[in-house]
Amino acid sequence: MDLSDKVAVVTGAALGIGRTIAETLGQRGAHLVVADLQVEKAEAAGKEIAADTGRRAIAVQVDVADNASAKAMIDRAIAEFGRVDILVNNAGITRDNLIMRMKEADWDLVLNVNLKGAFNCSKAVIRPMMKQRYGRIVNITSVSGLAGQAGQTNYSSSKAGLIGFTKALAKEVGSRNITVNAVAPGFIETDLTADLPQELKDMAIQMTPVGRFGKPEDVANAVAFLASDETGFITGQVLSVDGGMVMQ
Ligand code: NAD
Repeated sequence: MDLSDKVAVVTGAALGIGRTIAETLGQRGAHLVVADLQVEKAEAAGKEIAADTGRRAIAVQVDVADNASAKAMIDRAIAEFGRVDILVNNAGITRDNLIMRMKEADWDLVLNVNLKGAFNCSKAVIRPMMKQRYGRIVNITSVSGLAGQAGQTNYSSSKAGLIGFTKALAKEVGSRNITVNAVAPGFIETDLTADLPQELKDMAIQMTPVGRFGKPEDVANAVAFLASDETGFITGQVLSVDGGMVMQ
């Protein structure tokens, strides 16, 4: 999948899956906006990605939950590169608890970052993408949004909401050559899953036909596929990258 000279904005790209997505898009030729709340880590990631790939990679601080901040990120991308071809809504957080112990603030925060964040960033980029009659938006959802997960009513709701958002937006913008798809990772080795109790990790592997945790590269390769020119007839879809854990 060749992404030569495409411009990609990846949110939550300082660490984990987002960083690997940015690196993978860069290896395939894209210039990058490495956007994250943690600006120093985003700057370090941007420098490494630029050195590894020979592409331009700028770091931008963003709080995706904040509408003005998301708009400023897209404005900066356009000021630097003249256009945005690819938006990957990857920034996401968890604040797990059983509903009886879940604080309202933890519900609001997770919905605001994971779901409203995708709205804010997509809204900021959609007008320029419509004008240029080209765009690829990829939203990172989760198996928890497909199957539900105890202890994650907030996270599962945000990720299920993101699937509805993907389908609705795909219908709105399809005629302008803009596709909107989602990738639903299963258990992937990152900081988000590093602290899970060993018992839960063993259970997750048992539930995965492929018999292992996924790697960030597994997710990044699926994103690169959906971000490419060649997949212009695929839209509104959810691609599971979960070793077969949830089969629809
Ligand atoms: P991570 O915690 O390693 O990285 C998330 C990044 O997002 C961090 O760099 C963080 O600073 C950034 N971020 C957090 N809040 C932000 C905000 N408000 N604005 C901008 N950036 C913000 O997480 P990860 O495991 O790499 O997960 C990436 C995505 O993949 C998330 O959407 C997550 O829900 C999803 N996912 C992960 C797994 C997994 O097993 N790791 C499984 C399914 C889905």
